[in-house]
Amino acid sequence: MDREIQKWFLENHEGVEALSKRIFDHPEVSGEEEYACSQVASYLREHEFEVETYPVAPSKVNNGLTAKWGDGYPVIAVLGEYDALPGLGQEGTASRSPIEGPGHGCGHNLMGAGCAAGAIAAKQVMKEQKLSGTVKYYGCPAEEGLAGKVQMMKMGCFDDVDICIAWHTGGPFRVCEHICQSMISVEFSFYGITSHAACAPQEGRSALDAAQLMNMGVEFLREHVDDAVRIHYVFGAAGERPNVVPDYAVVKYYIRSDKKESVDQVFGRVCDIAKGAALMSGTKVSYKIISGGYEPVLNFTLNDVLYEAMKKVPNIVYDENDYQFAKELYKNYNGKEAPDTLDMAGREAIMGKCCLLPTHLCVPLGTGWAESGSTDVNDVSQVIPTVQLFGGGVMGVGGHSWGVTASSGSAAGRKAAVQAGKYIAQFCADVLKNKEVVEKSKNELREVQKGKPPYSPILASDGEIQLKIGEDQ
Ligand SMILES: [Zn+2]
Repeated sequence: MDREIQKWFLENHEGVEALSKRIFDHPEVSGEEEYACSQVASYLREHEFEVETYPVAPSKVNNGLTAKWGDGYPVIAVLGEYDALPGLGQEGTASRSPIEGPGHGCGHNLMGAGCAAGAIAAKQVMKEQKLSGTVKYYGCPAEEGLAGKVQMMKMGCFDDVDICIAWHTGGPFRVCEHICQSMISVEFSFYGITSHAACAPQEGRSALDAAQLMNMGVEFLREHVDDAVRIHYVFGAAGERPNVVPDYAVVKYYIRSDKKESVDQVFGRVCDIAKGAALMSGTKVSYKIISGGYEPVLNFTLNDVLYEAMKKVPNIVYDENDYQFAKELYKNYNGKEAPDTLDMAGREAIMGKCCLLPTHLCVPLGTGWAESGSTDVNDVSQVIPTVQLFGGGVMGVGGHSWGVTASSGSAAGRKAAVQAGKYIAQFCADVLKNKEVVEKSKNELREVQKGKPPYSPILASDGEIQLKIGEDQ
């Protein structure tokens, strides 16, 4: 590892940990990240970055930020996130200790701070070794809604960026080779007619019936789509009282698949089902696209650079307290004693032999593999060569859970933020000393995208579903 990186983290790790703790203690859901944004902004300002904060639509508060140090080619962007998840408030303790409201059940408090640290330590190398180029940190809000980075791309925030690096917590430290899913988030609203449910049901048209018929139709659709497709839904509105026929119901859907093309197709079929449900129930239907995103484009040129950089950084070290914390958390979360090694559900070849706090580096496979879940980093990777670092946090607790919140508020979690910062800084330094990898990564992206339709973001919009028959029933 470059001497400057080692020195910077030795002198500043407490500041990085404190920043992640402040964001943890003040969790904000997607679109509301004003505090997190301001905290990261001042931290970067203190470390000589030029910082600008701004609202990322539909938010009205300053929840996005761009911080810059250096000048000229290449421009390396470090993408940080800091939004929390609703209902996952929890102390950073090993036992269930809920706090009302949101919580960092996906570790974004660590990512916001760790990525900022990476950018700052990279600056330190550039300054002392007189390396030319630009390092930027982007505070990207609303990752959980898959909206922040898509919106920031639309705003032109990344227009001058040559390559990007992002970090996500989870598992042993590794270069991301998994291909997560393309997704669309959409709400269907049904409009019926109210009536007294006992005295005049014949006069009512139930929007709730329509929504239930739609969900039923989608259940039957499941059998006739590709294995990669995932469809989940919850009710947003379903009436108030059983004695009133509801005239309004909302059902919120996420549709995911391994390719945007497939998501588009399934979305069309789900719209047909909604239309059928409206027809059956004598109601009307419309939809609203909330957000959506592509599948990722892996960049193996940058993956190689990141892996080589990671090998230069000494592996993460945990202490006895961290292991004790991880064991207790596992036990409280799973209701049983922690095993010595975790069953990785067939992923040993990728992740290696894992314990609750893995310290090893995974060896990349050199090829992509399918994985569930989605991120808006994918959209950036469609346009700009992008590499993702993964790892950190206690294993053996489910994603988006109080267990992850607890881990993200723990000393072990904060150590992961520091470790990730070192990897990011080393990656930036290596790129700046070997700039031809930037063009190579761009050529790779061009090659992969050849012949595909141009990137077209899924943005928030309203849609009417026209019914040809039964409209006036
Ligand atoms: Zn996340």
